[in-house]
Amino acid sequence: MRVRVSCAVLAGFLLVSAASASAPPAGRFVSHVQTLERRVALTFDDGPNPAYADSLLSELALRHIHATFFVVGEETAWHPEVIVKLVAAGHEVENHTWSHPQLDTVSAVRIAWELAKCDTLLDSLGVKLSRVMRPPYGVTAGALQGVLRRTHRAGVLWDVDPDDDPYPVASIGDELKTLMAQVHPGAIVLLHPWYDDNVVTRAALPALLDSLSLRGYRVGTLAELSHARRARWRDWVPW
Ligand SMILES: [Zn+2]
Repeated sequence: MRVRVSCAVLAGFLLVSAASASAPPAGRFVSHVQTLERRVALTFDDGPNPAYADSLLSELALRHIHATFFVVGEETAWHPEVIVKLVAAGHEVENHTWSHPQLDTVSAVRIAWELAKCDTLLDSLGVKLSRVMRPPYGVTAGALQGVLRRTHRAGVLWDVDPDDDPYPVASIGDELKTLMAQVHPGAIVLLHPWYDDNVVTRAALPALLDSLSLRGYRVGTLAELSHARRARWRDWVPW
């Protein structure tokens, strides 16, 4: 019995150690991981929008893919049922602030409020939050880094951005071409599927996922990417 208890304690310790080692460091802005393994994280920003939730979830489920959704608190308050569906389907949901402000134009107090209010709502919906957030518009200047340090969080950016330049992207072919040109082992891919005018991203998603698979990439959440072989978080380099 004693040995069993010790093993259980040891297993628990190892699990906790692995989880803390794999989180991005507090106060840092990261954009990808360094690894030789062909894995990428799929992240969706903004929303949620109930109009497109079921089709998006079924495309992911069809391919046994989980993704990370950075959602806006205010929009979540309008459509909490979408978050419940995301959680039930095993996806990660994370904080993209309460009202999506450009954070270099607001105070540290306001930034902390934006993050805490969004956290509280997501927590009430059963989301298991990790200590990350995504800054709206990728803006990392101003008081944000200090707030992240004090609240023991990291900012997670991206380095593959197929539907954003120009936004919305013109065609499925253009989106696929950008994805394939930018993707690399350890990449963090960003897509915006929730906007009514971003028809192309929703239509392109099956082709994007299948093309990644054909190139040998495993697509998953940020947490899954952090467990890639010898993964090391790499810092965001501002434009
Ligand atoms: Zn956003």
